[in-house]
Amino acid sequence: MPEKLVIIGSGPAAWTAAIYAARANLNPVVYEGAISEENRLRGMLPLGQLNLTTEVENFPGFPDGIMGPELMLKMREQAERYGTKIITEDVTSADLSKRPFVLTDSAGATVVAESLIFSTGASANYLNLPSESRFKNMGVSACAVCDGALPRFRNKPLIVVGGGDSACEEGTYLTKFASTVYLIHRRDTLRASKVMADRALANPKIVPVWNSAVEEVLGDDERGMTGVRVRNLKTGETQTIDAPGMFVAIGHTPNTKFLNGQLELDDKGFVTLKDAFKTTTSVEGVFAAGDVADSVYKQAVTAAGMGCKAALDAERWLAAHEH
Ligand code: NAP
Repeated sequence: MPEKLVIIGSGPAAWTAAIYAARANLNPVVYEGAISEENRLRGMLPLGQLNLTTEVENFPGFPDGIMGPELMLKMREQAERYGTKIITEDVTSADLSKRPFVLTDSAGATVVAESLIFSTGASANYLNLPSESRFKNMGVSACAVCDGALPRFRNKPLIVVGGGDSACEEGTYLTKFASTVYLIHRRDTLRASKVMADRALANPKIVPVWNSAVEEVLGDDERGMTGVRVRNLKTGETQTIDAPGMFVAIGHTPNTKFLNGQLELDDKGFVTLKDAFKTTTSVEGVFAAGDVADSVYKQAVTAAGMGCKAALDAERWLAAHEH
């Protein structure tokens, strides 16, 4: 028997979709992702990006803030309470050419589904320098919350690259461990929201390095990363900053690779929604919600709202097709 609804992902969109679908007796199955080193390095472990963050101050209902991982565990628990089946594996391939859809997972199992919700989120971008890949796990990271407390970073200068909310948040978090945090940004104004930017720039341990780009991560096999060579994009001058760690916070790319072009994407790689008010995609019976389909807002609460819409869209679609 095919499953009525399979939800792929484990961020706020996926769990909200699961809560609504479970309460509508659709017996949803959630593929929350596998716990693997590869997923860790790509920031794609179960529970999504909020599981890699610290305090969430803008999710309604928590006036004193809530820690990201706690929020995600509560969402998962709520989905489970209403009967969601959770599988801790990745979906490695999906055949969307005919219905029911056929999925294969990282344990080799096959699941057949009448309808799908893609809420696979987005994963961290890197600078794509060869020297950066060389020192991943030896100083280079895209997740301050995961790696910031490691002994190699204690009381040492650290680098954060980027100028958005993530860079400010990671930089501020790292000041707990670092002696100084050099915030390297390619322009001279931050893209981050005012509250996050002000907080970061007011922190005496954060030293902005404006109009600059990391050209090379320096180090050796024995010590790992030891610093970065930075170029000032206005003057062309280069300088070396000694630091055992670099945290890259330059945005995210939607996770659509395993779809192999079967869903229409926009020019930035986000799943295209067919109707601005719905979560319908280019394939009937397939819905998308959260960061994988949102190049504009990318907030926990907007992802949760989209997850709710996707479950309602799927429920109505299943009813109309008499599944
Ligand atoms: P973002 O807003 O897209 O910012 C990415 C930053 O990285 C920008 O400053 C960009 O520079 C820089 N950048 C991009 N590519 C680069 C490259 N190749 N080399 C050097 N710098 C590069 O991404 P984000 O900070 O991850 O935030 C994503 C979304 O999540 C946003 O909507 C944000 O509001 C949200 N978020 C919210 C919170 C919160 O509210 N607590 C925390 C984290 C994230 P330019 O500015 O020059 O483009």
